[in-house]
Amino acid sequence: MYYILSMTIFKNKDDLFKSISFIKGVGPKLSKYLKNKRIEKINDLLWHFPYSSTDRSNMTTLDKLESGKIQTVKVKVLKYNFPRIRNLPNRVICEDQFGKIDIVFFNSREGYVKAILPINKWVVISGKINFYRNRYQITNPSYITSLDKIDYVKKNIPKYSLTEGLNEKSYRKIIEKVINNLPHLDEWHDSEVLKKFGFRSWNESLLKIHNFENADKVNNIYIRRLALDEILSNLIVLSKNRKKFKKIKKKNKIFTSSLSKIILKNLSFKLTQNQEEIINEINKDLRSDKKMFRILQGDVGSGKTIVSFMTAANVIEVGCQTALMAPTAILAKQHYMLAKKIFDRTNIKIKLLTGKTETKFRKKILEELINGEIDLLVGTHALFQKKIKFKNLGYIIVDEQHKFGVKQRMSFAEKGGKNCDVLLMSATPIPRTMMLTVYGDMDVSRLTEKPKNRLPILTYSKPEKKIDELINIIKKNLSQGNQVFWVCPLIKDSQVLDYSSVNKRFDWLKKKFPKETNILHGELKQNKKDIILENFLKKKTKILVSTTVIEVGVDFPDANLIIIENANKFGLAQLHQLRGRVGRGHKQGKCILLFKDNLSNNSVQRIKILKRSSDGFFIAEEDMKMRGFGDIIGYQQSGEKFFKIADPVSHSDLFDYAENYIKKIENENLDRFDFLIKLHDKAEIIYSKND
Ligand code: ADP
Ligand code: MG
Repeated sequence: MYYILSMTIFKNKDDLFKSISFIKGVGPKLSKYLKNKRIEKINDLLWHFPYSSTDRSNMTTLDKLESGKIQTVKVKVLKYNFPRIRNLPNRVICEDQFGKIDIVFFNSREGYVKAILPINKWVVISGKINFYRNRYQITNPSYITSLDKIDYVKKNIPKYSLTEGLNEKSYRKIIEKVINNLPHLDEWHDSEVLKKFGFRSWNESLLKIHNFENADKVNNIYIRRLALDEILSNLIVLSKNRKKFKKIKKKNKIFTSSLSKIILKNLSFKLTQNQEEIINEINKDLRSDKKMFRILQGDVGSGKTIVSFMTAANVIEVGCQTALMAPTAILAKQHYMLAKKIFDRTNIKIKLLTGKTETKFRKKILEELINGEIDLLVGTHALFQKKIKFKNLGYIIVDEQHKFGVKQRMSFAEKGGKNCDVLLMSATPIPRTMMLTVYGDMDVSRLTEKPKNRLPILTYSKPEKKIDELINIIKKNLSQGNQVFWVCPLIKDSQVLDYSSVNKRFDWLKKKFPKETNILHGELKQNKKDIILENFLKKKTKILVSTTVIEVGVDFPDANLIIIENANKFGLAQLHQLRGRVGRGHKQGKCILLFKDNLSNNSVQRIKILKRSSDGFFIAEEDMKMRGFGDIIGYQQSGEKFFKIADPVSHSDLFDYAENYIKKIENENLDRFDFLIKLHDKAEIIYSKND
């Protein structure tokens, strides 16, 4: 191993992508702590901005100490006081010409204390001042240095959010090495862009932010510059991918829709006009000689599944196979059952493959896939294991795609080869303004019309102190043959967060409804979760206390009441998703939101929106205005954060600008942005297959 940063400067800008363990002084232990903060490469350090700063610049004499303040003093070491009793701290008495102060060390070795504070030596010490038993003291001071290093301490020092095992001093050693030695990068922006926004270079911007200059304003030019960088890197990658997809030629699928016409006759309802339009749109893609890569966005309950089956029928008609993938086994099974019903009067062969499929059935399925007997395979991500080979896969459909994250989206595009069309479906409406940012690589269909007979879900709010009233409401619902979801934000009670937990609520409800109540949350094993949901579906249990894991598109026809505790904790879009779990059958769906007593204006506003509207696209738009973008896509659940710096609400002008700009430069050579794309970790989502 060699240490790149033992030198004064990066040898090479690509060193930024090396592991942090290449920084001198970062050993395995520190690496582990940094990893907890998702810092693994040197580059990751750059995007971890300070949130505040500590002013250690004012030197104080010992007659002007103020308890509770962080102060910096210049003192002479006078005397040691090392108690012989365990657990008592070591003390060092120091003085200047105006007074005395105790420097106190817990869990310290004498040798160490003597080495950093030699008797009679003048030192600079910085830390929080306490007043204890009539004496001023500093306990475990943040800094002790010799006088010649006074400038290192006597200043405004940026404050980073640090985890256990990392203190300011050790983090500073690392971050300062990196920030003060940033490699020079060639400017990727045109000079007009820099001028228009008043931006400075990449180096200067990062340096200013890490020195916490102007950092109180999200909208200072330094942050804005890095935000525009990030937005552009995202748009460029999506645009590159889009161009690549558009070049992929495939064998066009020519069909007469004879099969899908049979399905249509089997349906108990009439398609909405919007569903018909989208089916036509997809059919056009299937018929064309370009590979389809399309996302179908539609609110919960808007009827996306049937759209996918109608178009799958056409693919099957021309002799190709279709794979339909869902994020959970229970949803896969539901799709499978529905497909069996819908394709009933055809001779289409349908199979289900999930992680639970027994080996002997699995073996048979693998055979039937490779020899082309199976036309439609429904399943979980088990569908895309390497061993699973199709004879002639022509169509991949991925339901609830947002559960799978951005990178996996690319992998779906690659699966099946060039002749395979791809349709992703998502029930998370993205505000129109963010469409290009999120789905700029795909063609987008929006299903906005709801089936006509659908009753909007009635939404009520209730203060938590009236929670007992819900018992009667539940009783009444159960007596009518209905089922109930009860959602809480936490699994276990927390000492830090004042939210309700499923464990506690389950105990409470079980006393009142001992046979009917069950519990579900994300920490349970998948097969356990599946059993619980099956039992609920079969109506063996009637009340399900759950975290948000019930969000995903399963149909429970008799569930018509959902109660959501601490409704404030959830975003509007998420509340809308959750209430979409009920009222999917013929019954009127109801949603009760529980709130703490004193509602802020903001909360009142939020409830109003939910009560007034059942339009997921509108709600997403409003949600973004109120809470920002992070929660909307739901990627956070898959552990990915869409933007590190850019914020679609406060940087909306930059988003607008970037979208127009990308359209203008799309067809130029964009190599100058290559390094930027790497800086923002987007290089790995560039579509690289050339088939
Ligand atoms: P989502 O878009 O959330 O996946 P689904 O496809 O599960 O919605 O459809 C929800 C329910 O609506 C299903 O029971 C489905 O049979 C029904 N449905 C779909 N289209 C229509 C329609 N045009 N008219 C009436 N009911 C419909
Ligand atoms: Mg669905």
